Amino acid sequence: MTRKPPAIVGLGQTTTGQWRDDAACIGADVEIFFPHSGVSDMPAKMICAICPVRGECLEDALAAGRTLQGVFGGLNMRERSTIIRHRQRICADDRPERAAAMFRELRPTVASDYAAHLIIAAQFGVHHRTVDKWVIARAQTEGASST
Ligand code: SF4
Repeated sequence: MTRKPPAIVGLGQTTTGQWRDDAACIGADVEIFFPHSGVSDMPAKMICAICPVRGECLEDALAAGRTLQGVFGGLNMRERSTIIRHRQRICADDRPERAAAMFRELRPTVASDYAAHLIIAAQFGVHHRTVDKWVIARAQTEGASST
């Protein structure tokens, strides 16, 4: 059976994919990148540690989601899952600020606050009342910091 390097096994396509040609795992035993329970993943991580495309590989693996098994970009599924959760938390925390900024830009171009809230709500995939709360909360925060 021909073994494929982990770099081309089941990853998403967030980058061009050309980085795979430079993967340090080409020719390596793919099974060390998918160790059975109780078997160390350190041999795979040691190959990743010297890989020139580790960053690209990791980003594609992160984009593939939390269920992607195996070692990619030097991290196993659990370790990548931690990064994904952390990034999601940052994005989630960032939404009120981004929504408020969008509201400031959008409001002069639409008929009402409600219309702006609806557009922004569609962008973020939330209810328009949530956008209303975010915008109000942001305005209060800015008001408090300017006094
Ligand atoms: S970081 Fe690891 S899994 Fe990714 S391409 Fe390099 S050696 Fe392969």
